[in-house]
Amino acid sequence: MIISITMNPSVDISYPMEEFTLDTVNRVKNVTKTAGGKGLNVARVLHQTKAEVLASGMIGGHLGEFIETELEKEGIQHHFFAINGQSRNCIAILHEKKQTEILEQGPVITEEEAEHFLKFFEQLIEQADLLTFSGSLPAGLSDDYYAKLIHLCNKKNKDVILDCSGKALQEVLSKKDKPLLIKPNKEELAALIGKPVQISVGELKNILSSSLFDDIEWVVVSMGKNGAFAKHRNTFYQVTIPKIGVINPVGSGDATIAGFAQSLANYQSDETILKHGNALGMLNAQEKITGRVNMQNYHNLVDQIKVTQV
Ligand code: ATP
Repeated sequence: MIISITMNPSVDISYPMEEFTLDTVNRVKNVTKTAGGKGLNVARVLHQTKAEVLASGMIGGHLGEFIETELEKEGIQHHFFAINGQSRNCIAILHEKKQTEILEQGPVITEEEAEHFLKFFEQLIEQADLLTFSGSLPAGLSDDYYAKLIHLCNKKNKDVILDCSGKALQEVLSKKDKPLLIKPNKEELAALIGKPVQISVGELKNILSSSLFDDIEWVVVSMGKNGAFAKHRNTFYQVTIPKIGVINPVGSGDATIAGFAQSLANYQSDETILKHGNALGMLNAQEKITGRVNMQNYHNLVDQIKVTQV
């Protein structure tokens, strides 16, 4: 089983509007509310590929209950740790071809909750073949909290895919316990090394050879429509993808993580891992709804992806 962890999930509210005017009343008819968060997208995509997946993390209050109910409607198994605070709302106002987002910070986790979650997590991971950690940490948890979770996983020989950025990622890179795979996109990689990144084989090889990534078996740099570049131990791969009609690429990184998780949990070849992840990322980009993949188009896309050792 793959366990997908979302530490700060949300209720994602979408307000489509013809016009959005500041400093007055705006009315909206077609409101949609869905369970959101990067790890929940990972779980959704895994569920559609028929993988056995369990969604977990921290939730609280009636919005937390809403998240659980939505997952149940989709047939996704879940087991969350209940906190006292209220899970957050994230609002996207879609207006005049623009998207204005209002993202709540979410609950503040108490020290006691942080401690108790570690105990809950230690039990939870017994059932996992592999875990994915996606997205930011809620307030109250220290920046090294993912590092602590990875330490617990490594003690039990459980592989982890980590998809986060900023201080939480830097903390993990500075610690002895490492995840199996990280997937920074181009911007996240630039933030890590403190300068812009050029998409050239030479430069990417150079960057990924830095001691910053020592002991991380897989580093995959996802590059949207330009595919991906990967390092597996000392082997480098360029992943070239075909041009496709894109409808909404938000969440393509999460779909890619789902693909990597499924292939890695099944000990597939490097080429299959990279093709499967990219194909799911592309399928997500072809849909309006984030975390949706139409598996009928899967083989057509996979056949057009090229993985070249460079
Ligand atoms: P997000 O944060 O929205 O989940 P990300 O920035 O982490 O995304 P991307 O690099 O945008 O991840 O996308 C992951 C993968 O999805 C890419 O490597 C590629 O295979 C596919 N993909 C994303 N955008 C496109 C696109 N516009 N055209 C084709 N494939 C895409």
